[in-house]
Amino acid sequence: MAKEKKIKDRYLKLIEVINKHNLLYHTYDSPVISDSEYDHLYTELKDIENKYPSIISESSPTQRVGSQLLDYFEKRDHEQPMLSLSNAATENDFIDFYNKLNINNNINDIEMFAEPKFDGLAVNINYENGLYHNATTRGDGYVGEDVTQNVKTIKSLPMVIDNTSLPKKFSIRGEVFIDKKDFTEINQELRIKKQKEYSNPRNLAAGSIRQLDPAVANSRRLRLFLHGIAETDSFINFKKHSDLFTHFNNIGFPINKYSRVLSGINECLSYFEEMSKQRETMPYEIDGLVYRVNSFDRYKSLGFTSKSPKWAIAYKFKSLESLSRILRVTFQVGRTGTITPVAELEPVNIGGVKVARATLHNFSEISLKDIHINDYVYVKRAGDVIPDIDRVELSKRKSVKKIIPPKKCPSCDSVLKRIDNQVAYKCTNHKKCIPQIEQSIIHFIARKAMNIKGIGNQMIRELVSKKIISRSSDLFTLTESDFQKLDRVGEKSIKNYLSSIDSSKKVMFSKFIYALGIKEVGESSAKALATEFDSLNKLLRCKYDDLVGISDIGPVVATNIISFFKDTSNISNITNLISSGIELTYKKNNPENLLSVVITGSFENYKRSDLSDILEANGYKISNTISKTTNLLICGNKPGSKLKKAQSYGTNIVYEKELAMLLAEFH
Ligand SMILES: [Zn+2]
Repeated sequence: MAKEKKIKDRYLKLIEVINKHNLLYHTYDSPVISDSEYDHLYTELKDIENKYPSIISESSPTQRVGSQLLDYFEKRDHEQPMLSLSNAATENDFIDFYNKLNINNNINDIEMFAEPKFDGLAVNINYENGLYHNATTRGDGYVGEDVTQNVKTIKSLPMVIDNTSLPKKFSIRGEVFIDKKDFTEINQELRIKKQKEYSNPRNLAAGSIRQLDPAVANSRRLRLFLHGIAETDSFINFKKHSDLFTHFNNIGFPINKYSRVLSGINECLSYFEEMSKQRETMPYEIDGLVYRVNSFDRYKSLGFTSKSPKWAIAYKFKSLESLSRILRVTFQVGRTGTITPVAELEPVNIGGVKVARATLHNFSEISLKDIHINDYVYVKRAGDVIPDIDRVELSKRKSVKKIIPPKKCPSCDSVLKRIDNQVAYKCTNHKKCIPQIEQSIIHFIARKAMNIKGIGNQMIRELVSKKIISRSSDLFTLTESDFQKLDRVGEKSIKNYLSSIDSSKKVMFSKFIYALGIKEVGESSAKALATEFDSLNKLLRCKYDDLVGISDIGPVVATNIISFFKDTSNISNITNLISSGIELTYKKNNPENLLSVVITGSFENYKRSDLSDILEANGYKISNTISKTTNLLICGNKPGSKLKKAQSYGTNIVYEKELAMLLAEFH
């Protein structure tokens, strides 16, 4: 008996622990144990179930994938209709809505609960007696489809809950979605299998929740956030949405961490502002924010329109996508000679910015998305990234023309070479092709490279087109009279240019390597090379085998490096650079001794990129995630979860006001 109880206790404990880790991993993306530790627990659980099948509990993570293939989805009525929310498209719409709430409640600054509006598929989930009971899609709001099996595959959704302070039966609403990263990966897998791809994460989530085979749904990495309840009457222990959802969070439901209680129009609007910026860096897509009155009592007095509740609104972000037409396609020559097709568009406004061009990336992208000249296309813009084309609107297609790859370089007319398994075209006339010369020098002076301040891209183009310079080392032989040949340049500016060229001469080895512009050698490969080869001479003599042994360098990059240094014109450029007085500085520490540091939040007096540079130059290794071995957290305003983690690990924390002291130690 005692032994049986021991096994049972261990079994229940394992279920509890694994379910908790599933929530941390699948919802909050913050695993606290390694994959192998997790696998270990899971194996132990399965072993117990194999030995004692009678013990198997509904709440066990092994029970999530049903084996039963469905013929079709049963329909189910919603006990309470799943209404949609009314929308605010502009700030004025939102302000009107908020003012009306205040007037109707005879109050100033009514308290709201706000959170992101997830771009997925709405579901209603029922719990009975502390157990997951069933799940239904929204459908038309009154009747949906039974997706109980597939929703069960969402690993962060608890199958058993502590319902002490909750009603015996209740309905909770949530949004099923897929991370942007998983969307890309799953589409890639589908492409390899020659199956139909999905056009965006929402379609993929919807398509996956409606799979008749639960095993397919299980493979789709569906995620879920819960955000509402069907009715408030039965939740007698809770007066506010925020209290109830804090409780839901405490008992293990997946609840979004960005939610906020706000009061007053200013708080509401600045939260919108903040989340609009946050949006791009989030792992999943959100298309706006949902604001709801926080107090349940007020729900009743406010009531409903025929379509939606009057106590909530969806305030949508400005669309970052617009429909336009491709007028023609031009070809651009990149720094290393790669030809990029560019769509010239009928100008269109996207989220307040006028867009007339979008990159088409390469010819495999063009054929994959089936893009033609004259097609109507959805153009997407995100942050500072060049706009690109998301998809074609096939219903508007009339007479279209195929996009033909050029045979010759649009700039220097030399015959192009097909590379990278035939998807890309390249101009190999590197030394004479003007855009390649311009861009390699522009790359050389950039902040992350030699950091020559004050000289802009336009000036480089002018210097190249007037044949004053033709490679990077020529910058260091420039004289006053050279600059006088340029349009509209004053004496005082010339002095500044010359002094800024001069002061760039002392440079970290890794930045110098990056500045050389070797194909596919980015900042991190350059750093790895600088660490591996502690002098320029050693780097120049590197062998292929040495290179592929470096963790950041693959065979393709290694080949690029070898052929770069084989080219005598590159060697003569490097020789000229060094003889013009460039002085390389090498790191003080070995990688093993580097102190690891994480930077979080924003700073009033420092740029994060500058901070990283200073720290790296002084022997710190910058990392993005806090772990037990992190030596230091540099913490700015609005630090987020990293600060909490650092506190829990006992990591040393330096706040902005103490930063000056730390930086002073470096001199
Ligand atoms: Zn060319």
